[in-house]
Amino acid sequence: MRLSRAFLPTLKEIPAEAAIASHKLMLRAGMIRQTSAGIYAWLPLGLRVLKKVEQIVREEQDAAGAQEILMPTIQSADLWRQSGRYDDYGKEMLRIRDRHDRDMLFGPTNEEMVTDIFKTYAKSYRDLPRNLYHIQWKFRDEVRPRFGVMRGREFLMKDGYSFDLDVEGGTRSYRAMMLAYMRTFQRMGLRAVPMRADTGPIGGNLSHEFIILAPTGESTVFYDAAFEEMALSNADYSYEKPEDLEKFFNQITSLYAATDEMHDEAAWAQVPADRQREGKGIEVGHIFFFGEKYSKSMGLTVAGPDGQPVNPQMGSYGIGVSRLLGAIIEASHDEAGIIWPDAVAPFRCAILNLKPGDLATDALCEKLYASLQGDAVYDDRPERAGVKFNDADLAGYPWQAIIGPRGAANEKIELKRRATGERAEVSLEEALHRIL
Ligand code: ATP
Ligand code: MG
Ligand code: MG
Ligand code: MG
Repeated sequence: MRLSRAFLPTLKEIPAEAAIASHKLMLRAGMIRQTSAGIYAWLPLGLRVLKKVEQIVREEQDAAGAQEILMPTIQSADLWRQSGRYDDYGKEMLRIRDRHDRDMLFGPTNEEMVTDIFKTYAKSYRDLPRNLYHIQWKFRDEVRPRFGVMRGREFLMKDGYSFDLDVEGGTRSYRAMMLAYMRTFQRMGLRAVPMRADTGPIGGNLSHEFIILAPTGESTVFYDAAFEEMALSNADYSYEKPEDLEKFFNQITSLYAATDEMHDEAAWAQVPADRQREGKGIEVGHIFFFGEKYSKSMGLTVAGPDGQPVNPQMGSYGIGVSRLLGAIIEASHDEAGIIWPDAVAPFRCAILNLKPGDLATDALCEKLYASLQGDAVYDDRPERAGVKFNDADLAGYPWQAIIGPRGAANEKIELKRRATGERAEVSLEEALHRIL
């Protein structure tokens, strides 16, 4: 992307309601634009990051054996009447009436719909286990939308649903998602802590929230300080081996970690006092095992191995895809701006041309730009160097390739790593080698 032609509206004046770093930085860097309270348009830079986060989520779901579908945003109220949640859900649900006076709603989650779809096709125990997910916009009419994409009213969620024959299978599916979630967050450069959590309006009895520890988080959490150092090695486990999943689950849940709703003073007292931590965290994911709750209420049965009808055991698994952008920035920024982890950066590199119009400088910039194959922004604007440095720091590209007439005469590039500020004068080949 050439900045001279890009739609990248950086802001100098930040609206007063932007109270936390991630919200301010997303507005300043021109990633999002609020169109109504808690509803955002995604501008080119923000959309690129959103897609990268979404793709990591998708790859890890696929690796865990889940299958992607896409369900609509608008749902019929009748589905929710079947489960009994139409009245229970309350004011967070946006209710709509169509021209034929039918009650519709903008989906806040999809347990009812996915169960209804699945029951049409699943007839016997051989149709189990299955795990279906989608990545779709949700609407929740939050009382206090705030902190930008962290608590929007319209937001992007990955929600997945597992169907198993028995509790053992359901537990295995739950553990597989626990592993997939830890891998997902780790790939984004995040340290997420799985915490025992309340099941809330989804129901059920086994549930974990994935929390990014951050002072600006809205959840109060209690955890063992060992989590801060725990090496989250999760590479050696296989989804195909139930014993691996059990081992991983036991390891990761062995340390104390709970949200305030689930905080248990007796168990807390067992944690050595110097390791007890109370703090704030951002909920980026939440998994539930709720057994037959929806298969029963929505009438999903399959024929078991003995021919008798069985209600499948279900779980549901959510990730706040758009909220993750805020969480990543909260975890990774400085006074100058965002510091994107490589895996989710909108572009890997910013090429800063310090003297547009100088033949050698332009030529070297173009050469590097072409070699980076679209994974770079090229700052070819007729602006002062200081403006370019500030904008690149603000947008947080992991690498900056700074090119001016002096270096260009010898085909030299000054390469800066955004995270550490380290600089080195390198050849084009060396620059490509480091960036890619
Ligand atoms: P919260 O406690 O923050 O209101 P929740 O517990 O109501 O979230 P879930 O029903 O567990 O949310 O939904 C799954 C995930 O969707 C959450 O873990 C969170 O990451 C994300 N999410 C929920 N509400 C919002 C929102 N208003 N804006 C952005 N992401 C959200
Ligand atoms: Mg909520
Ligand atoms: Mg919650
Ligand atoms: Mg939750």
